[in-house]
Amino acid sequence: MSDLNGASSSDRHDTGFAQVAPPNSTGIRVVIVGAGFAGLGCAVESKRKGHDVLILEKFKELKALGDIISFGNNAGRVFERWGLHDKFWTVCSHVETLMIHNAQGELLVEQPNPDPLFGAYAYNGHRGELHTMLFEYAQSLGIDIRLGQDVSEYWETETEAGVFSNGERIAADIVVGADGVRSTARTLVLGYEDKPKSSGYAIYRSWFDCAEQGVDKDPLTSFICQGKDLLYGWIGPDVHFLAHSSSDGKKLSNVITHKDDADITESWSFPGKMEDCLKIVEGWDPRCAALLSKAPSLVDWKLVYRDPLPTWISEGGRLALIGDAAHPFLPTSQQGASQAIEDGVTLAVVLQLAGKESVPLAVRTWEKIRYQRVRRAQLLGESVRDMWHKAKPEDKGQAVAIPKPEWLLGHDAEKHAYEVYDSSAKGILQNGYELPTLPVIVPAAGA
Ligand SMILES: Cc1cc2nc3c(=O)[nH]c(=O)nc-3n(C[C@H](O)[C@H](O)[C@H](O)COP(=O)(O)OP(=O)(O)OC[C@H]3O[C@@H](n4cnc5c(N)ncnc54)[C@H](O)[C@@H]3O)c2cc1C
Repeated sequence: MSDLNGASSSDRHDTGFAQVAPPNSTGIRVVIVGAGFAGLGCAVESKRKGHDVLILEKFKELKALGDIISFGNNAGRVFERWGLHDKFWTVCSHVETLMIHNAQGELLVEQPNPDPLFGAYAYNGHRGELHTMLFEYAQSLGIDIRLGQDVSEYWETETEAGVFSNGERIAADIVVGADGVRSTARTLVLGYEDKPKSSGYAIYRSWFDCAEQGVDKDPLTSFICQGKDLLYGWIGPDVHFLAHSSSDGKKLSNVITHKDDADITESWSFPGKMEDCLKIVEGWDPRCAALLSKAPSLVDWKLVYRDPLPTWISEGGRLALIGDAAHPFLPTSQQGASQAIEDGVTLAVVLQLAGKESVPLAVRTWEKIRYQRVRRAQLLGESVRDMWHKAKPEDKGQAVAIPKPEWLLGHDAEKHAYEVYDSSAKGILQNGYELPTLPVIVPAAGA
């Protein structure tokens, strides 16, 4: 079994805060629905905080699905604390600068990408590879992960919460709905159907081997596979295209976001047509079509978004939604997966501090700690999209650079939860539970 202290990482950075409680010391039974990054992250930190954890996951076997995913330094701090740095770092891309161009191919900004930043690393890599590593790490801690479990019902009483999974009734002190952007927990926990809506955008995505697809042979594309990882971006009205090489320039990920109001009731992704994709970059810098056309196949990912939910928790305070189930992100925030990790870490800490007798107070305090921060991070993603999609011809340098604010990336979710729990819980004990409010301050891009 792995060491809960994440010993291998502690020499690398002073990760500031890392409290590990004896196994099952709190007596709190946590059932988590979904083994994505949100569910796994919550499970690992819950184990570290002395809770007893069970994950119920619908997929029948672990598969390395998806393509590129980004974890900011705020989530990187958590992974490093868990001792995952060496594993993650080996499979992640290491980009020194982000080169952003306009549609004509003129370089608008060469943005340095310092890593580590604010005392922690960021990790950008293949979702499937990183997910497999986290999944196996959770298993190595002895976390009970049951696959092939389709959770169809949630319930709570004053003293318990639970689910029905494959017809079996399972009870716990708290149930965490980490079942992603098309969450059924959301309907079952909140008591009303809140369907995800189209964001108005879709993304053509691909991930492939450069040599196999001849990227290194084409004079228009060979620049991206020169023995190191590179990140090139092109921006135009309502479109941005990111081409990201990894594994020392051997793999390429193409991600092009464009206007699309199609129905989003289908699966999260399905095959896309290359001719539709290439139409988007007609008349653009010829490197764009050349890079995009190298992909052997495309995923057409309809980007789902939603207005902020009024609450992420049930009336009784024993059911909570985390990750995409509570708050899907635009990719331009580069924070969807990171905020999912922060959610789980924070929840595990507040449960430990509140104790088994006060689980509803912990859950309500968790929402209070997380709600405004998550919304600020979501808004940052919207402002980056607008900055790129509405850029004026004269916009260059900082005007098109990705903001890397310390409030976001320097955050330590574990430490913060320990620091603010008492004051946040006190407010609820004194005044009663109130629905969370949206933040008043809208962060400006570049702030
Ligand atoms: C297959 C897949 C591929 C993805 N690829 C990418 C990518 O390439 N790049 C990117 O940026 N993001 C990708 N994402 C989204 C990204 O993982 C999330 O936005 C982010 O990590 C937050 O994760 P989450 O755990 O909240 O949600 P998800 O990652 O969506 O995880 C939710 C989990 O809940 C499970 N689940 C759903 N319903 C039930 C149920 N009723 N009972 C039990 N389990 C259930 C799902 O099978 C899934 O494993 C992908 C998601 C999935 C599911």
